[in-house]
Amino acid sequence: MSDPNLCGRCGDPAILKGDIGLRTSRDLELIMVVRKDHGIEKKIPLQPRVCGKCGFVDLFVENPQTLKITSEDKPVDPDYKNRPLLEHDF
Ligand SMILES: [Zn+2]
Repeated sequence: MSDPNLCGRCGDPAILKGDIGLRTSRDLELIMVVRKDHGIEKKIPLQPRVCGKCGFVDLFVENPQTLKITSEDKPVDPDYKNRPLLEHDF
């Protein structure tokens, strides 16, 4: 894994310090991570990392395990046609 203190584009250690939030222009909507293959949407906060030099924004999730599809997850659209789970989905 690359150094979390260095910019992923220019390599400068100018990552802005402190908590940085992102939100959509319509209030209170979380950025959603969507597993389109399954019609499943996951609510999970995306953590941004902003380079103070070149402005590159990196996004990451704190608990990527929660993005895995489980048998509890149901497609948002009830008419969604299921596709069998494949190995690369996990
Ligand atoms: Zn940079």
